Amino acid sequence: MPPRQPAKQSGSTGRKRKLGSAGTDVPDADNNGSTTAKKPRTNKGSKAKQREPVNWPEYFDSLFKALNTVLAFCASRKNFAITFPVVRQSVEGLLKQPLDLSKVAELKALLPDTVNFAYIPKAELRIHAESQDTSKRRENSPDYAAFGSQGASNSSVGAAADDDEHVLVLDLQENSRGKKSSNPGFAHGLPPALTPEATKKLINKRNERFIQAVNELLEATSKHDDPVTLLQAAARDHIPIDPSSRSFNKLSQSDSKGNQRIVPDPADRPAVDAVIEEIEEQEWYQDQIVDKRIVEAKDGHIEEIDPPLSETIAQALRDSRKITSLYTHQVAAIRALSQGKHVIVSTSTASGKSVIYQVPVLRFLEEDPASTAMFIYPTKALAQDQRLALEQLLYTCPGLEHIKVYNYDGDTPQELRAGIRESASVIFTNFDMLHASILPHEDLWRRFLKNLKLVAVDELHYYSNIFGSHVAQVMRRFRRVCAAVGNRRTRFVSCSATIAKPKQHMQSIFGIEDVEEVTEDGAPSGRKDYLVWNPPLIDPMDETSGRRGSLTEATRLMRFLMARGIRVILFCKIRKSCELAMKALRSELAADGRQDILDRVMAYRGGYSQHDRRKIEAEAFSGNLLGIVATNALELGVDIGVLDAVIMLGFPMGGLASFRQQAGRAGRRARDALAVFVADQFPIDQHYVKNPSELFDKPMNDLVIDLDSKVMLEAHLQCAAHEMPLMDDDAVYFGPHMKEICDTRLTQDKDGWYHTHPKFLPFPAKHISLRGGEEEKYSVIDITRVGKPGGYPQILEEVEVSRALFELYEGGVFIHQGLTFIVKEISHDSKIAKLLRSDVNWITEPRDFTNTDAAQTYRIREIKDSPWRAYYGRVELKTVVYGYFKNRNKAIIDAVDLDTPPYERESTGMWMDVPRPTLELMKNSGINAAEAIHAAEHAFMNRFALAADLKTECKVAEKEYKATTSQRKRPARLIFYDPTGTNGGVAVKAFDHVSDLLQRALDTVESCPCQEGCAACIDSPTCKEGNLVSSKTGALVVLKAILGRPIDVDLIPEYPEPIAATQDTIIPAVTVRAAEDIEVEKA
Ligand SMILES: [Zn+2]
Ligand SMILES: [Zn+2]
Repeated sequence: MPPRQPAKQSGSTGRKRKLGSAGTDVPDADNNGSTTAKKPRTNKGSKAKQREPVNWPEYFDSLFKALNTVLAFCASRKNFAITFPVVRQSVEGLLKQPLDLSKVAELKALLPDTVNFAYIPKAELRIHAESQDTSKRRENSPDYAAFGSQGASNSSVGAAADDDEHVLVLDLQENSRGKKSSNPGFAHGLPPALTPEATKKLINKRNERFIQAVNELLEATSKHDDPVTLLQAAARDHIPIDPSSRSFNKLSQSDSKGNQRIVPDPADRPAVDAVIEEIEEQEWYQDQIVDKRIVEAKDGHIEEIDPPLSETIAQALRDSRKITSLYTHQVAAIRALSQGKHVIVSTSTASGKSVIYQVPVLRFLEEDPASTAMFIYPTKALAQDQRLALEQLLYTCPGLEHIKVYNYDGDTPQELRAGIRESASVIFTNFDMLHASILPHEDLWRRFLKNLKLVAVDELHYYSNIFGSHVAQVMRRFRRVCAAVGNRRTRFVSCSATIAKPKQHMQSIFGIEDVEEVTEDGAPSGRKDYLVWNPPLIDPMDETSGRRGSLTEATRLMRFLMARGIRVILFCKIRKSCELAMKALRSELAADGRQDILDRVMAYRGGYSQHDRRKIEAEAFSGNLLGIVATNALELGVDIGVLDAVIMLGFPMGGLASFRQQAGRAGRRARDALAVFVADQFPIDQHYVKNPSELFDKPMNDLVIDLDSKVMLEAHLQCAAHEMPLMDDDAVYFGPHMKEICDTRLTQDKDGWYHTHPKFLPFPAKHISLRGGEEEKYSVIDITRVGKPGGYPQILEEVEVSRALFELYEGGVFIHQGLTFIVKEISHDSKIAKLLRSDVNWITEPRDFTNTDAAQTYRIREIKDSPWRAYYGRVELKTVVYGYFKNRNKAIIDAVDLDTPPYERESTGMWMDVPRPTLELMKNSGINAAEAIHAAEHAFMNRFALAADLKTECKVAEKEYKATTSQRKRPARLIFYDPTGTNGGVAVKAFDHVSDLLQRALDTVESCPCQEGCAACIDSPTCKEGNLVSSKTGALVVLKAILGRPIDVDLIPEYPEPIAATQDTIIPAVTVRAAEDIEVEKA
């Protein structure tokens, strides 16, 4: 991890005042540390007078005021943007003089964040109006018929044919999101039309801002310069260009000074540190960089290998890879393998790991042409990439050109499989195939297994938690079968990202002891700059005003980098933000007139068809793409070629390990690279903003697998017995619980062999799926072109049932590659959604909740030293999407009710009730019970090693802080459940260790030095609702109560703020029915 570098002391020394930045949101006081007196904020200031006789600010004072009046008036009546010609007419009427584009551009230069002056697609403007029309009707369900007919009959629907018509809009934007609240972002209902009084206030506020900006400009101007001339010069860059005009391409290629606006070839791009300096000089730079550190370039270390490679292998490496020497870690791994050891290599991304698998295979094949090898990858895409790479190498290796290499996975056609089994020397596969196809047919694979010299498992860190636990059992079955066919010499080699304890993880996954660990990275690397980027406060004077949107910050940074030829990947946490970022890039780049860049940006995420994904990967790899907007689907090592910069939008769900892995995606040997973490406003993000060194220095969590789960072990023993009957001495593979399970769950013959229980026959492997059940999917079909010449319905993507409810509802906006579609029709019976392409400039946000209800108690357990108990049993889940919001620029422009069928399913879970007296106590002392319970749930899960495979009922801020009384009351209960579609078995683990987990949760929260809760105690990166409903005090009270501890008076606020009646959403929990004869288990 990067050594600590002195962070830039942002803002401590006179930062440059830039023309234009002097606008609305640069605080005078942000020169913290400097002692200059505050500048006058509102009056015209004495300095302006000293500047006489410059005709200032009258130069355009009247103009601004006229504009302001017209626009405020428009805003008071309508809620959509106004075209420039309309504004011009009114302003010219007021001023009795012509309004030039250049004048408006000067205002834009002065107030860049306030004045919105750009060409937007005409379709977008029109839909503003339609949105208003439909919202006026406010029917219960979206009035799709009306939308459809209007939409379909005009050109907003119907592909790109008329996408290129643009109109110039002019608008003044608010810099605050209205009334602030301690709980971010949940203003409800439509923004009301402005009253005359509010309009007046708005006008005054903007006028003040304008005057302030002028004052700041005057101050920043040196004696020898004329502020007006400066402003006029700056304004040239702010004159919008119509992207649909003929001259656009020519114009947009050059800036005001006539410089060519061409993206440099990535090979000629500027150095990262120069670009960072340039960023800090931009008008939009407001000290967002809160931490900066550098990892210096490092030379590679090479080593001679002994015994040396054969001349043929050396030649193949040279010819196909241009490799003439090996790095120390490669040599160490290859040497250990040739000494018969098992090896784990844990080094940085792009350190040349594939050579570690390939060279030994070539050596084995040269020694013995009958040798076989198996390469295991977590995804088919990775396996295909790597198969091609090995084929190329073999092809250039004299004597090995004929060697047969295949992918063997779910996509391999049945009719080819027998041929592969018979002739393959190397197969590229995955654990699912090993489990369900290879091991059950070991008799057909005997040649291959007997001659198996090497098994390479790539991306070992991928196998943890429940999936990893299954894989560990599959490996044990596999080693047993190999031994049974007489092969005990197979060597295992594995590579992983940098993880906490690589050797230990390999030992537990493979069930082997003798493992050589290689962690010394001999590959060279370029210099890398890490930035932590915190979006500025909306109101710089007010910490509670919230921060500007992280998405806008991230896309602006991305555009800035791409324009300089820096190839960027933007990682988003979820699919939706990935599409929103792509959508933002589309409109921003179009408004900038940078179609040239837009053509080279794509989104990449789960849900896209395999075909589309391969296409994007290929585009990226070839170097055609300048930017990729991706989810963590690209965290794994799919080779998309060289990237220069990584931007992480929000702290990744996968925690620190994901953070480091994503950051590692940028940078190759010879060049410098950049990794930027753009923080969200969520508590966990802000925690790392305050403690950035943790991003680099804090040790990662150990990867966890669970070998003690009897449920899982039994499932694999049923499979193993089918592969070959089990004997007592197979306990060397399956551990001490094997015999007990075999005796009770399998059948034993008279010779003592155990066989699969008949109820699992004939295919026991079909009863378990390593990654959980495959979900049913909805087909998402674009019907825009249907009925037009040559038009036919097209499948856009497939969406899993568990997501479909939230993404596909009538009237909802569905985004694909940043393009918006409207869901016209959805059938839950046929699982088909029909969509129309439509350029809307709002998005929709489902309004939903999931009730997690304990339905039946199977087990009860004492909690140590407490009168209360924990329960395990059946849990019913009910998700209701009861409507959606239409949002534009984070403002809700419409709320639509929906009547969709609830999505119900069952699972297993564990729960603990909050004692009634504690609930009363919280209510009387102003502690919000929903916040308390939610925080306690996450505190509990944070201490549980298998929490990645466990879920809880996250509290939704929209529900908890609602202005009207919520009808949805929830029991005072901490509840955790196994995700549906998995094999479960995690909640019961939590139940078995409940006393210990509660105690550790309490200890952690109690000893945590933070004030209001942090990532170390009560916040979780996996919280579905961003940890917004949360209280550290509340968590302490709840945990203590359940543990039967006295609650210290310190925790009870002295003068409690009464909780609004509407926020009273928690009711006492009622005991869940249980069979009468359940014995209470001891703590
Ligand atoms: Zn804390
Ligand atoms: Zn949560």
